[in-house]
Amino acid sequence: MDLKQHIRHVPDFPKPGILFYDISTLIAHGGAWKETVNRLVTAVTPMEPELLVGIESRGFLVAAPLAYLMGTGFTMVRKRGKLPGGTIHHVYDLEYGQDVVEIQADAIRPGQRVVVLDDLLATGGTLHAAVDLLRKVGANVVGAACIVELTFLGGRDRLDIPVNTLVSYD
Ligand code: IMP
Repeated sequence: MDLKQHIRHVPDFPKPGILFYDISTLIAHGGAWKETVNRLVTAVTPMEPELLVGIESRGFLVAAPLAYLMGTGFTMVRKRGKLPGGTIHHVYDLEYGQDVVEIQADAIRPGQRVVVLDDLLATGGTLHAAVDLLRKVGANVVGAACIVELTFLGGRDRLDIPVNTLVSYD
């Protein structure tokens, strides 16, 4: 099955000049979504994670069915102020300004093998920030996986972990 056929391209979103790769259409198609999740399970299983991590918010859509099928459970990396209880955060630089990612302080056991999931890898900044945060709380980040990769932005070159993606655009 060609998953690309199910990914919609939306010009000028969220800003003029940006082409947005929209996975809403992929998720909405039962067969394509099932195939996507199954392929991600195949990609992620050899990394032998003990826990999956989803990045807010579309990363949650990816991490949840994978965790269910792999029997691992998953935890959330969120924007600031969304998680209850004790949290650890990490500030990272954007093109203009800064942003913050946060995780619950007790979400990860020291040395625990985790794989990070998101819908799409673009510049790699988001995934890089999540990996930095996870290392801050003692995780052993063994890999990452996304549905889509925008290879022309070189995101994987910014990361020092194996990254698996299902669909790429040059
Ligand atoms: P990066 O930090 O530049 O790698 O951007 C990746 C993050 O931005 C991911 O969390 C994506 O959900 C989101 N993102 C960036 N571009 C797109 C797109 O074209 N479609 C869907 N999500 C995108």
